[in-house]
Amino acid sequence: MATNGVLDARERGATLSRLATERFDVLVIGGGITGAGAALDAASRGLRVALVEARDLASGTSSRSSKLVHGGLRYLEQFDFKLVYEALRERDLLVSKLAPHLVRPISFLYPLYKKVVERPYVGAGLALYDAMEGTRRPVPHHRHLTVRGALKMAPALSPTRLAGAMLYYDAQVDDARHTLTVARTAAAHRAVVATRVSAVELLRGPDGIRVTGARVRDEETGHEVTVAAEAVVVCAGVWTDLVHELAGVRAGYRVRMSKGVHIVVPREAVRADTGMIVRTEKSVLFFIPWGERWIVGTTDTDFSGDRAEPAATEEDVDYILAAANRVLAQPLRRSDVIAVYAGLRPLVAAAGEANGSKPTTKLSREHVVDVPVPGLASIAGGKFTTYRLMARDVVDAAVADFGREVPASVTDQMPLLGADGLAAVRAGAGRLAEDYRVPRATVEHLLDRYGTLAGEVLDLIRADPGLAQPLADGHPYLRAEVAYAVTHENALHVEDVLMRRMRLFIESADSGTGVAGEVSTIMGRLLGWSRRRRAAEARRYLDLVAAEQTAPAIGPATAPRAVLAGATAAG
Ligand SMILES: Cc1cc2nc3c(=O)[nH]c(=O)nc-3n(C[C@H](O)[C@H](O)[C@H](O)COP(=O)(O)OP(=O)(O)OC[C@H]3O[C@@H](n4cnc5c(N)ncnc54)[C@H](O)[C@@H]3O)c2cc1C
Repeated sequence: MATNGVLDARERGATLSRLATERFDVLVIGGGITGAGAALDAASRGLRVALVEARDLASGTSSRSSKLVHGGLRYLEQFDFKLVYEALRERDLLVSKLAPHLVRPISFLYPLYKKVVERPYVGAGLALYDAMEGTRRPVPHHRHLTVRGALKMAPALSPTRLAGAMLYYDAQVDDARHTLTVARTAAAHRAVVATRVSAVELLRGPDGIRVTGARVRDEETGHEVTVAAEAVVVCAGVWTDLVHELAGVRAGYRVRMSKGVHIVVPREAVRADTGMIVRTEKSVLFFIPWGERWIVGTTDTDFSGDRAEPAATEEDVDYILAAANRVLAQPLRRSDVIAVYAGLRPLVAAAGEANGSKPTTKLSREHVVDVPVPGLASIAGGKFTTYRLMARDVVDAAVADFGREVPASVTDQMPLLGADGLAAVRAGAGRLAEDYRVPRATVEHLLDRYGTLAGEVLDLIRADPGLAQPLADGHPYLRAEVAYAVTHENALHVEDVLMRRMRLFIESADSGTGVAGEVSTIMGRLLGWSRRRRAAEARRYLDLVAAEQTAPAIGPATAPRAVLAGATAAG
């Protein structure tokens, strides 16, 4: 039986005591998209599931991606047909059925520079890309564009050497919001989801071999408890090797980290009505429309630093600007850059190859499942787009020796929370606006973020009309969304709200530091924080932003630092 899928941060105590007292079929370690997907897959098969996440849902790679749900055009060139085929199927399933409120089609213009040879080559690739999608088409077919057509859609492109363009379609998503929604859907199927809880030891049964659960630590208090489970599933992304070490096992693969950096620039800095993808020496560069901004990236370099807070360097930003400026008529400057963020790809390498010389651009994006000892299944690699298949495969491996029949995965038939009935709720947006006495634009903003759950946010506004106010000037987020992040989305700290429940960290020139105090006040009212605690929580966010942005000097002069200093004095 499904429940309502509410993750209420105020109920954290009850969640932790369930972890300690119940016996689970599956314990999932890691609350990125893979772990959230595994929890949903297992819970929807009728299994008793717990998920522990050391920090916040999606705080690892799953909030730092290019935010594309795509087949991966460039993998066709690497003849990775299986990966492309599977990813396209998943893309279409998400757009049409599982998450139409979160995953939306997006067009990409692919400029051509070599007369004669390039068009047939790219055209054939795109024809194959489209053909792999099958006959039901939730996203449009690709098109050929002349030079004039290309410049009309993307006046920002330099006409020099331009020989025409192709236009094709993929999809995009708010990666952190999607991960959260998958975790909430798992909770709706009775999974216990606990954040800021780390697995610190894996337990063995009486035979000394089978893994039978984990000792976990509440990172808020340091308190440790034991979670008993028939199988443990490791979905720890770039932390996977460390979790294998906790278990004292050697898995058949290791994870190699590759850093990818994106910059964020204002929409008016690049005049184009479509996303763009351009070739670089090593790979490709995307210009991805993101509300009033562009996300531009990415890089692909080996990484061995701090997994939790990978920082971008001056060289990363210079590389992206140089690659972008090769195709733009009006170059992007450092002062155009609003934000920079870095993420780590958890690429799989054979055990001996982890530190090898194979460039990370060439390492497989396919996923690998391993069962190094009974009771322990682990997965790494893959892509955000294919999380549902990854989840299915790792849960299949985990339950294979349960000695009883476990139903097959059903997630291909299960719309995520907020998806069911979306068309009707969208059609009634005007009526909702009247009923709740808010502007229609507010309802549409909420529908785009919460789907049919938008009414839950509107209910908070009805109870406290002050929450209808915008949180930050020039951004569509409402104060009610901060409250909702606590009462329904398990936000425990200011950074959970500003970095992941909403995306001011990457969307605002001050990274959201200017509203950290306000967010802390709204959260504090609900979570019973003292004045001192509220100031400390705001301060904690400022420190985190400062740590994440140590590297490149970006943006208009010293604006972000001025805000940071001001907030420091206030806090
Ligand atoms: C720059 C970049 C761009 C990308 N772009 C795309 C894209 O456009 N499309 C696409 O499909 N894919 C993309 N990807 C890939 C995709 O983002 C990743 O494959 C995916 O997010 C990995 O998710 P995950 O759950 O495996 O790992 P993560 O999201 O990192 O989750 C692992 C979690 O495990 C937790 N954890 C670790 N140790 C413990 C412990 N001991 N106890 C409890 N919890 C623990 C961590 O805190 C973390 O939250 C991109 C990746 C990068 C880096």
